[in-house]
Amino acid sequence: MKYSTFLIKYAEIAIKGKNRYVFEDALMHRMKLVLKRVPGDFAVTKTQGRVYVDCSGQYDTDEVIGALLTVFGINAICPVVKVPYESFDDLKRDVVKYVDEEYPDKNKTFKVFARRANKSFPVRSTDMNADLGGAILDAFPQMKVDVHDPEIMLNVEVREDIFIYSRQITGPGGMPIGTNGKAMLLLSGGIDSPVAGYMVAKRGVKIDAVYFHAPPYTSERAKQKVVDLAKQVAKYTGTICLHVINFTDIQLAIYDTCPHDELTIIMRRYMMRIAEHIAKENDCLGLITGESIGQVASQTIQSLAVTNEVCTLPVFRPLIGFDKQEIITVSEKIGTFETSILPFEDCCTIFVAKHPVTRPNAKVIRRSEEKLYGTIEALVEKAIETDEVINVI
Ligand code: ATP
Ligand code: MG
Repeated sequence: MKYSTFLIKYAEIAIKGKNRYVFEDALMHRMKLVLKRVPGDFAVTKTQGRVYVDCSGQYDTDEVIGALLTVFGINAICPVVKVPYESFDDLKRDVVKYVDEEYPDKNKTFKVFARRANKSFPVRSTDMNADLGGAILDAFPQMKVDVHDPEIMLNVEVREDIFIYSRQITGPGGMPIGTNGKAMLLLSGGIDSPVAGYMVAKRGVKIDAVYFHAPPYTSERAKQKVVDLAKQVAKYTGTICLHVINFTDIQLAIYDTCPHDELTIIMRRYMMRIAEHIAKENDCLGLITGESIGQVASQTIQSLAVTNEVCTLPVFRPLIGFDKQEIITVSEKIGTFETSILPFEDCCTIFVAKHPVTRPNAKVIRRSEEKLYGTIEALVEKAIETDEVINVI
């Protein structure tokens, strides 16, 4: 069946009052951007509080739907068959044809839900419901009407043309990118942080990212893996400005100076400090990490508290209550899992202690860090200067 239009449904709750235009404009802007990458010509329009995509030229329905499924703010996509209005008999014929092609198995209950956006249309909605329903029953006697809980809700909308649709594909939900500021994602090559970025972005937050690498202890391939993950997340979030920071000297200094069971936690604190610095320079209003309570030693509540205390920006940890399997399920859905499990070392795994502290005491950690004073400041400055910015599209 050839769909020429897609009706886009979005959450009502987000578009109350003054926000409505901001929300709709951001939604349409993002839709236009993702559709630019799909062959075909597309017009994204808003009429009477609804957003439509009109397709023309050579396009593939699945590709259009695939692109729209990456747009946060879309709750559902309804593929529409558009027919011109010539006479009511023609409309009956079109509706019957639609049902016939769309539902090869006719053992179904249905309800016709007709609406007249165009009030000059000669037939009233209630009459359309009855007459179109009658035409369907005549053509397919095995079908049954169920007005309360139909399997097929056949929408017939009279506009300039007539829109017929009954299917609805669930969208990603959330809010359009850019409607809720920007945050800095600490992106590693693991499973968790790409999912964390996706989840915060889903609430309308634009994402920048920072990756700490430690050459030669971490390879170019490990870095490329992070770029690839950013690319996958960027399908949903739009361009991600990825900052790659050389963290080697800081890591070595910590390794040489601090108790080894505290390495991870002190290293995490320096990552957070530098991430916050870059975040503030780039108008990010918060930090995002992929931490989840108890997942590893550095993610006990005590460790999280000690990591947290070095930041003044809010730190968003959208996976905080997720089990690993739940995180994996999302990562598979968004397409990052396959890349995340590639076996390239991450700078954290090289400098990990055999028995890291699980209940760090902030005072003890601060005291250990004091041993770094005098050298670490210059190393932090130097690390920030290594910032390599990659615009990941
Ligand atoms: P992930 O699967 O996201 O790598 P993880 O389970 O390996 O997470 P940790 O290594 O403790 O957990 O890291 C916790 C969080 O710290 C990560 O989710 C990420 O946000 C951030 N992080 C860790 N390593 C790096 C890094 N090299 N560069 C940037 N951020 C990092
Ligand atoms: Mg990791």
